[in-house]
This record gives sequence, C-alpha cells and structure tokens, in this order.
Amino acid sequence: MPRPQKCRRVAFLPNVTYFKPVGIPLRVLEEIQLSVEEAEAIRLKDVEGLEQKQAAEKMNISRPTFQRVLTSSRRKIADALLNGKAIKIKGGKFEMAFSRFRCLSGHEWEVPFETMIAAPPVLCPVCNTSNVMPLQPVESFALGRGRPGHHGRRHGGMNNVPNRQQ
Ligand SMILES: [Zn+2]
Repeated sequence: MPRPQKCRRVAFLPNVTYFKPVGIPLRVLEEIQLSVEEAEAIRLKDVEGLEQKQAAEKMNISRPTFQRVLTSSRRKIADALLNGKAIKIKGGKFEMAFSRFRCLSGHEWEVPFETMIAAPPVLCPVCNTSNVMPLQPVESFALGRGRPGHHGRRHGGMNNVPNRQQ
C-alpha cells in the first residue's frame, strides 16, 4: 500500500516564477515545471548551504525524501540551463512554514507554523486591533496565479531573468 505523501514544509515562495532563455522562439520553447518544494530543497541546500539533515528537518521530511526532491530539482534545473528550456515554478504538495496575517489597517506579518498550531494570533502586533485575518497566498500560488497580497516584500538569494526580456 502506498503511504500517503506528507506535505513538504516550505518557508519561501520565490517572487519570480518564470525563467526563459533568450532567443528561443516561443513555439519551440520547452518548459520545465519545478514544484515549489523542489525550489525549496535547492534553496535550503544550495543557497542557504544547510546540511542535508537540517534541510530535511526544515521541510519536515525524511533524508531520503529530501534527497529525492533535491535530485529531481537539480536535474530539472540542469536540463533547462543546458538545453535551453524555460522553467516555471509552480504547484507541488506543500504547506507553508508560516502563515501571513493582515489586520484591518493593512499591517501584515508572518506567524511561524509552530506558533500557529499552538496559538493563532488574535491581535495585530503593530496597532493591537483584534480585526486580524489570515492571508492565503499558497493555494493560488500553487495554481500558478502568482502571489497576491504581498507588497514590497523582497527576498534575496536567486538572480533571475524577467520573462519579458528576450
Ligand atoms: Zn494593525
């Protein structure tokens, strides 16, 4: 009997989710889809430089599973890079390591997963209003509609080529 697949825990949603090689006409351009957890595995191991054990723990999965996700991720990225394919980061089976909340006045903040489970926030940390609600960018992100409701939040790490460039 196949075990039900556990959700991989992800702490990062990339701002840019599409990479396209220069000079390849769209009609012949092949596209590779990288899941959000595959992107996270690469980030933890190759960008953050974590040991496999730590990275697996962060994603709440076993080391063999992490290794599998990482290998798949590296293979896809290498294929795209060397064979001139586009990469789309989209979908997968994951949960966020934190949730984002917003108050009625528009303040936004993040609550770690562990805190969420223990005690979801009831007050805005900035203005103390109790009119707070969770934001759920994850589902629409997984469906490939981009990430709504995020303003001025920058992540460092990966360089990228905007997909408008050609
Ligand atoms: Zn507030």
